[in-house]
Amino acid sequence: MKILFATSEVFPLIKTGGLGDVSYSLPNALVELGHDLRLILPAYGNMLKKLNKDNCKEIGQLMIPGAGHIHKARVLLFTENETGVPLVLLDIPGLYGHRENPYVDNKKQDWPDNAESFTVFSRGVAMIANDEIDCGWRAEVVHSNDWQTGLVSGFIKQAGLDIKTVFTIHNLSYGGNFSHEIFTGLDLPQAWWTLDGIEFYGNFSMLKAGIVFADHITTVSPSYAEEICTAEAGYGLEGVLSHLKHKLTGILNGIDPDIWNPRTDPYLATNYDARYRRLKGKMDNKTALLHGFGLTHDNEPLIGFIGRLVEQKGVDLVVSIIPDIMESTNSKLIMLGSGQPEYERELLDMAKHYPDRMIVTIGYSEAMAHRIEAASDIFLMPSRFEPCGLNQMYSQRYGTLPVVHRTGGLADTVVDASETNINNKTATGFVFDKTDRNDFLQTLRHAIDLYENKKIWNQMTMTAMQKDSSWQSSAEKYLELYQS
Ligand code: ADP
Repeated sequence: MKILFATSEVFPLIKTGGLGDVSYSLPNALVELGHDLRLILPAYGNMLKKLNKDNCKEIGQLMIPGAGHIHKARVLLFTENETGVPLVLLDIPGLYGHRENPYVDNKKQDWPDNAESFTVFSRGVAMIANDEIDCGWRAEVVHSNDWQTGLVSGFIKQAGLDIKTVFTIHNLSYGGNFSHEIFTGLDLPQAWWTLDGIEFYGNFSMLKAGIVFADHITTVSPSYAEEICTAEAGYGLEGVLSHLKHKLTGILNGIDPDIWNPRTDPYLATNYDARYRRLKGKMDNKTALLHGFGLTHDNEPLIGFIGRLVEQKGVDLVVSIIPDIMESTNSKLIMLGSGQPEYERELLDMAKHYPDRMIVTIGYSEAMAHRIEAASDIFLMPSRFEPCGLNQMYSQRYGTLPVVHRTGGLADTVVDASETNINNKTATGFVFDKTDRNDFLQTLRHAIDLYENKKIWNQMTMTAMQKDSSWQSSAEKYLELYQS
């Protein structure tokens, strides 16, 4: 099957979050299943710099309408590249050439031409899917992802093409909402400006475009598929999603078992795996990480956190419980992330207050993310909502038990350490029910207490590490969907 996979980020070339990981792993899993897939992205400047020009072939040119003028685009194909699958780039230097981050400038402000850039990209994807560049490759299915590629299915429908479209919602809270003036400027079809179309409370939403025009919608966990049809998690789109529920499916993300593998991970001080004797290697990682920051390892639990420092991730809940945990237990805490400046400041202040017990690194580091997963005993994910979440699965694979809020993909991937689940050896973490600091604190305390019971802790660690979170079964579900 010929599949064109359209996305705005992909590991390891350009990644801001989970979408980058999924855009790497799912296409690779589909190619492994024997399918002819091409990945397509805008040619961001810093991504082009990383790619080897010797592997680049210009396979066509397109003239694509934008806001008031036509953009000349070169279509580049890299058959060999870091993503592992054939990569097509839409090269329009005026729109993408200066972008280091796909969405925001270095002051963290949205690029002012985001609406035009991603509309032009989506138009280009539809044209390339239909082989308007005449390169001999035409898609049967186009799979697009999140608001940046939300218009793709609309353009395919508008042109009356016999190409099927799948749209995946990775996070409903980013809507790609723009004004009527921008809508008109982009010369989008007037007929789309309706309640059933892409109009959204006086603006238009590129995410809604993906929802209404795609032949099928997926989201990244079965629980999140249910939640987004309710007012609590629907961001105003619950009505349209409930109405279109017949074409909505939740398919759990997997993780890449080669990149996140404690047995081979090149970032670790010592590699280890689920066998009891080898698990000692995990301890070495903890010692190495703590020593690296000038701290001692005294057999206390190490608690980790990695992620965007935003409300969605429950960072405020973490901030609110740190003093209690520091005062009432001997745990140490290591946090890595960046985001809202007030959380960054608060966490840095706290780390100054507990210099022997708490490490805070503001920034983005793939290497440190791997080291924290390996070194920690407990991992915090108190997200308010979480479409799927990847870090809890990385944690489980690294023998680090996650403490999570029962929401979305967290609810679908973590089995709580209840007495029954401990007894039948299915527990793989700790789950609390309410978005509430006390509930979170109590559950984290339970984890810290249980850490002392090595028999149960080792059992849970083994169960978590041996769990299959690979892409294989999810990729098969996507294929079934494409084929249907
Ligand atoms: P989201 O996509 O909502 O940010 P996910 O848990 O689905 O959350 O995926 C986040 C991905 O980004 C994970 O691979 C995580 O390790 C990574 N990540 C997030 N923040 C950082 C950071 N500061 N440094 C390194 N990796 C990070």
